[in-house]
Amino acid sequence: MLRSLLIYSVAIFLMYGLEASENQLHEQEEEYMKKCITLAYQAKTRGNYPFAAILVKDNKILYISENTEKTDFDPTSHAVVNLIQNASRKMTPCELRQCTIYCSSEPCPLCASAIYFSSIPKVVYGCPAETLKKKTGESFFIPCREILSRGSRPTEVVGPVLGEFAAYVHEDFWQRKK
Ligand SMILES: [Zn+2]
Repeated sequence: MLRSLLIYSVAIFLMYGLEASENQLHEQEEEYMKKCITLAYQAKTRGNYPFAAILVKDNKILYISENTEKTDFDPTSHAVVNLIQNASRKMTPCELRQCTIYCSSEPCPLCASAIYFSSIPKVVYGCPAETLKKKTGESFFIPCREILSRGSRPTEVVGPVLGEFAAYVHEDFWQRKK
């Protein structure tokens, strides 16, 4: 009787403990996502497309980036590509394998491929590709889980995190572009 009570107490303790740490993790992901979304707004004010990314290692933001397609006159200057190019010049592949990349929107096929080839093992995104597809009218959107699942290495994908909030940066933006 005492033994089963003890097991029951330990199980309850573990359950609540896990839930607490999961909540903490979730809160932290939201904080990084908010920062990412703020940077996406910043990209827009600079005349670029509203996308941004952040690289995190050991709970520290190491690099931030914005989309610079317009100001660089380069259609491949996506936020994620910019971030990976910058980070991989300064970090070893081993360090990159301990990072998480946060993206204000779900990575496009170009960015998802860049994440895979950089060996960054985890991606967290805000606005989902499906929403982006509707907002931009662009058809070249493939869910990043679909692309990353084709790799021989696993890449963890989390999202959408604050999806609706993240989608707001695209509000009225693409209509004005047409
Ligand atoms: Zn992209």
